[in-house]
Amino acid sequence: MRKKPGKKTGTDILSGIKVALLGYGSQGRAQALNLRDSGIVPVIGLPSGSGSRKRALADGFKVKTPSAAIKDAGVIAVLIPDHKHKELFENLPSRKILSGKSLIFAHGLSVAFGLIEPPADCDFILVAPHGPGVLLREKYLNGEPFSTFVGSTDNASRKARAIGKAYAGRIGSPESSQFKSSFRDEAVGDIFGEQATLCGGLIGLLESGFETLVEKGLSPESAYLECVFQMDLLIDLVKKHGPAGMFNRISVTAAYGSLRKKDFLFDKQFRIRLNKLYKDIDSGEFSKSLIREYESGMRNFSRQMKTALESPLQKTHNSMAAKLKNRSRYSDRRKPGGE
Ligand code: NAP
Ligand code: MG
Repeated sequence: MRKKPGKKTGTDILSGIKVALLGYGSQGRAQALNLRDSGIVPVIGLPSGSGSRKRALADGFKVKTPSAAIKDAGVIAVLIPDHKHKELFENLPSRKILSGKSLIFAHGLSVAFGLIEPPADCDFILVAPHGPGVLLREKYLNGEPFSTFVGSTDNASRKARAIGKAYAGRIGSPESSQFKSSFRDEAVGDIFGEQATLCGGLIGLLESGFETLVEKGLSPESAYLECVFQMDLLIDLVKKHGPAGMFNRISVTAAYGSLRKKDFLFDKQFRIRLNKLYKDIDSGEFSKSLIREYESGMRNFSRQMKTALESPLQKTHNSMAAKLKNRSRYSDRRKPGGE
């Protein structure tokens, strides 16, 4: 049988090493399934009351408590939410159980900003896939490679780099799709991208356009169709052909108007705000605020999520989605409030 490009079986530095995955959510499930299909059966570490246990067991994995899973493994992928890393490491019965082990993280935040301090004789390895778990799994099953940032810092075993590369390969990111990074660069870049463009920036832009048209008298349905509905088509063009390639493929009216007013919208003031956003992340203020928020019960976050759920744009989306047959491949949804 022809080997699919995303798949990596056979022998490498991970062969014979016990692997534990802590967490069985978006990344945890996809990485566990991909690892198993690549010849490594991980043990899943979840607290005894975890809602994810049922799914991991139903998928045929052995589930242990996080401490027991860490104890028995040589390589441990920490795939629990970033704001819970500090608590996880602080609550281990003994930090000695981490000694000599290789810790893999899917995002750099907790290591880059010192939220956790595992013993010095650990490998810290970054394997940060560029996208959600469902996509990582889907691409793996289709035999398509998935791009990933790979890096390592403390190299206690002197094999951290090789372990990171092999692990990334086994979850579906062969060397040709691995991009070198550091915990710091990945953390700052990923968080900035989420806040400035991909998530916060995108929704801010869509919402601003939608609300302006509604204020000017268009129906919410029309404003939704004009400002939101076609977004995926345009993003698809940008991903395939670049920004100029996109302008080249839309109407002259659309391209002429966009080029004429782009810098008016995203002016110097906007750049000043982006710089402030960067500073908030780079200085560690953002990571501190995330932990403060978690430790005080995620109340602000829950309130903001409630506002988002009740926003005019969301309500219009809800009434339009069935009519327009909007389908999402991302069926997994966190409970409101993020817990
Ligand atoms: P997630 O979907 O929210 O899943 C978290 C999992 O961790 C759940 O199974 C949860 O179980 C479990 N968990 C919570 N506390 C735990 C603990 N103390 N010990 C063991 N398991 C625990 O998380 P995620 O989005 O996959 O994020 C995991 C990591 O991947 C993060 O570092 C994130 O930044 C990174 N990452 C995520 C994406 C993405 O698109 N999702 C992309 C790239 C990187 P319960 O059911 O009990 O809550
Ligand atoms: Mg992220």
